[in-house]
Amino acid sequence: MNIIMMGAQGTGKGTVAGIISEKTGWPQISTGDIFRKNIEEKTELGEKANTYIAKGELVPDEITVPMVANRLNEKDTLDGFILDGFPRTIEQAQKLDDILKEKNKKIDMVINLTTPRDETIKRILTRRVCSNQECKATYNLVMNPPKVEGICDKCGANLVQRKDDSSEEAINKRLEIYDKQTRPLVDYYQEKGVVRTEEVSTRINRLGIDVATDILNDIKGE
Ligand code: ADP
Ligand code: ZN
Repeated sequence: MNIIMMGAQGTGKGTVAGIISEKTGWPQISTGDIFRKNIEEKTELGEKANTYIAKGELVPDEITVPMVANRLNEKDTLDGFILDGFPRTIEQAQKLDDILKEKNKKIDMVINLTTPRDETIKRILTRRVCSNQECKATYNLVMNPPKVEGICDKCGANLVQRKDDSSEEAINKRLEIYDKQTRPLVDYYQEKGVVRTEEVSTRINRLGIDVATDILNDIKGE
């Protein structure tokens, strides 16, 4: 199954995608993670992308789209994939349609996560990520803390805060871009009849893991 994860920063996209990926074997393709890995490894792509990411701006399509197209050529995507962080604009969605059409593929499900804004900002500020690029586990100091402070449960590496998560300016910029450029994508996919909207919120006591479990049950039942 070919899935797109949608939702603003801090809604739990990465968490839900990670759980579904683990249970189905469909790779989680996070453009943000690929960029951060390239920045860490100081590749040319990483250097180029970093100037935009540090400011909370979108990386231009000339860099992002071929990177995703190449990733979708990998064999591990044959049975399915979960795109996390792409597409973010209507243009990217159209380019993705072209890429998939060439492969006789289509998007089967768009998981649209919604969370009240005050909750998402709190979550971004308390998010910590594993510094081991092969692991990339994410934690939340309040809702999902690691067993040992500052240490990843899964691999033992140090937990760090992403640079763009500690700058209020970068956070606001990203949320603004989400509202203006990414949110309209929900309608784009709604027309294709593939959107599944799920609220993730402590207010209704529904976390990412609950959403992932429900979706996995439905996928199995089909
Ligand atoms: P967040 O969703 O919290 O912004 P991500 O890890 O998804 O975090 O992305 C981090 C940064 O990487 C974004 O702010 C943006 O600069 C860049 N990025 C990720 N995905 C895309 C994309 N599809 N198009 C352009 N830039 C992207
Ligand atoms: Zn780890």
